[in-house]
Amino acid sequence: MNMNKNSGQNLSSLLLDWYQENKRDLPWRRSKDPYSIWISEIMLQQTRVETVIPYYTRFLQDYPNVRALAEAGEEEILTSWKGLGYYSRARNLHRAAQMIQEKYQGIIPNAYEDLRLLPGIGDYTAGAVLSIAFNLSFPAVDGNVLRVVSRIAGWEEDIRDAMGREKIGHIVSGLIPPGRAGEFNQALMELGAELCIPKNPLCTDCPIRSCCSAMSTGRQSCIPVKKQAKSPVPLEYWVAVLRRDKSVLMQYRDQTALLGRMWGFPMLIKMLSAEPLNEFTQQIGLELREMRRLGETKHVFTHQVWRMEAIEFIWEETQNELPKGLAWIPFDKMDHIPIPRAFQKIIKLCDIGV
Ligand code: SF4
Repeated sequence: MNMNKNSGQNLSSLLLDWYQENKRDLPWRRSKDPYSIWISEIMLQQTRVETVIPYYTRFLQDYPNVRALAEAGEEEILTSWKGLGYYSRARNLHRAAQMIQEKYQGIIPNAYEDLRLLPGIGDYTAGAVLSIAFNLSFPAVDGNVLRVVSRIAGWEEDIRDAMGREKIGHIVSGLIPPGRAGEFNQALMELGAELCIPKNPLCTDCPIRSCCSAMSTGRQSCIPVKKQAKSPVPLEYWVAVLRRDKSVLMQYRDQTALLGRMWGFPMLIKMLSAEPLNEFTQQIGLELREMRRLGETKHVFTHQVWRMEAIEFIWEETQNELPKGLAWIPFDKMDHIPIPRAFQKIIKLCDIGV
């Protein structure tokens, strides 16, 4: 970035003034408690602010400190997380809380190296916690900051590239005013969320437009540069829906599977023939009367798209024991177990429990 010390200081102070006047009043901004900041930063990964607010508030009521989180059961935490998605975040939070409790007596460490050794804490989260909670001079480079800084600097290299991210981190480090790391990092993120948005940035309202290379050369729409990401692989499934009295058949997913250690519906790979459906019927010893198509839905992950067709099995009572991992879950208990959003869609589609 071709910016001398004075123009860097000018940019920082313009940005901080704007932030003071325009920042949104968000619950995690009312606290400097490292635990609350950590929880908010993990929840905000890949998730919109409006979605996070009610989860954040409830989560802090249920688990107000490291110790409460460390001592809670995994299933209970996953149930609180239900609907936020990316469940590995919740599992990592839990494991990290246990490590903090054990190694640091429940006090979140304020050294970069210690934080980075905790599960789920990468460069961004470590920088965010250290700067916002402890006001230490570390950059926190998330997607918003990458976009803003690459535009300011007129950066035309791929921002998905690790080297590029590192360079942007260096630029941010050089701009952090002494003693104001937390505010400065949040100001950059806020600018990215509110004005320097991905499409059609609101440059005329931008406090740092006079320092922005992309704006001065009209390149806002081509920066940041991102190489084409691989499209997610489409996978076709039948989803088996079996009801009995006031319960539904669900499956505890294997820990190695996607959405593992949570509850879902039995899924069968879709084929041209009905073979997988018949095999499933035999496997659980059903006397099948008929099968009915209930509808289709899909769920998009970063690397896969599940296209799911719900099939209702109408069946006679059977004496067979269910195979391991399958269980009848009463409708009124479905809120008490972790069911990821992909399967919540099936519940909604089929009006299960209604
Ligand atoms: S001037 Fe426009 S492109 Fe540059 S930082 Fe501001 S909003 Fe972003």
